[in-house]
Amino acid sequence: MVVVAPVERYHSHHIGALQEPHERIDWRPEQPRVERVRIKEHTCDCKATFYELCQAAGLMFIRRTHRQMGEVIVHESPWVVAKETQGLWLRLLMGSAR
Ligand SMILES: [Zn+2]
Repeated sequence: MVVVAPVERYHSHHIGALQEPHERIDWRPEQPRVERVRIKEHTCDCKATFYELCQAAGLMFIRRTHRQMGEVIVHESPWVVAKETQGLWLRLLMGSAR
């Protein structure tokens, strides 16, 4: 008899509980501006909403993907210099920006 151990699901970052007050990210509808977007980090997709830290055209932004009843809604934070978006990414993970 072969016993197959259940494969543990790999979870990546889960964002922290939302703090009050928190910074409101200026989410805008996704704009396909460039062909190549590199995903540097991402939050766990076991949640209905997940986030990706993206780099494109020398700038960085956060992409938010929300899945609800078969629909996928994508928004992006403003495209700004890497340092600014990396700071925002950390605040998002900590729950102080959303
Ligand atoms: Zn997860």
